[in-house]
Amino acid sequence: MSTPGPDELLDGLHVVTLPLRTRFRGIAEREIALVRGPRGWGEFAPFVEYGPTETARWLAATIEAAWTGWPDPVRDSVPVNATVPAVPPAEVAGVLARYDGCTTAKVKVAEAGQRQADDIDRVAAVRDAMGPHGRIRVDANGGWSLAQAHDVLAALAPFDLEYAEQPCADVADLARLRIDLARNGIDVPVAADESIRKVEDPLEVARLRAADLVVVKVAPLGGVARALEVVADCGLPAVVSSAIDSSVGLGAGVALAAALPELDHACGLGTGALLGADVTADPLLPVRGELPVRDVVPDPDLLAAHAAHADRLDWWRDRVVAALPHL
Ligand SMILES: [Mg+2]
Repeated sequence: MSTPGPDELLDGLHVVTLPLRTRFRGIAEREIALVRGPRGWGEFAPFVEYGPTETARWLAATIEAAWTGWPDPVRDSVPVNATVPAVPPAEVAGVLARYDGCTTAKVKVAEAGQRQADDIDRVAAVRDAMGPHGRIRVDANGGWSLAQAHDVLAALAPFDLEYAEQPCADVADLARLRIDLARNGIDVPVAADESIRKVEDPLEVARLRAADLVVVKVAPLGGVARALEVVADCGLPAVVSSAIDSSVGLGAGVALAAALPELDHACGLGTGALLGADVTADPLLPVRGELPVRDVVPDPDLLAAHAAHADRLDWWRDRVVAALPHL
């Protein structure tokens, strides 16, 4: 692949601000750049605090989507999970109703300002709503200490968890937690999410036996082809997730999930349901618990309706140019 130059990249650049239905990880709206290339559209949406070295990996994924294209899929649809934010138990059924046919739910736990009992009550409400055959995973986003993780997971284990995502922030704590849980007969697999931000991370997680599976996102790993190699190298089962993307970015996640040789878990790609607006009139939203493998093309009207202010466009253009030398 020849890397497009700055003019080619900037010519097709749009920046949109999309509202979220519920505040998620502290934000109420998401700013996203979209680039049009010869093959299609690519999303470039590294979080605003990331510097050029980190954003270059996201740009590599953008260029892959819009210029190079993705590896061939081995399946034509991808199962996705519902996401339950840190809501009171009474709101759980309403949240789940937004996800058509999803038989796996990811439940936010360890929310700042809440208690252990809130997590247990929420998971109980999800188990109630989904029935005994639904799969439930919890996501602590690294919010527990080692001791807290052990205690809460012991209390949640009777609800039959598929796995606990990033119970502790530190990789060494994840490794220790797995030993402690096994020693006490608590059968909750551990997944690494925030611990995986660079291509070296899954290998480190596997080497330290810090997780039973890895959560991978296309953009931080530098694209679908690169992420496939990383998953193969680390040898652990993978779940593909997103970072609150528009349907264009979700399409890249679907491309990865569709190309993985093994896919035993629903993916975190149903997050289009968290958005109050999208860039296409035909968004990638779960239908009967799945997303189709297909191209996503933004609508000019929606790009215009959600266009960010001109100064933000300049800021994103500068960001692309700053990342280019680090590709
Ligand atoms: Mg997570």
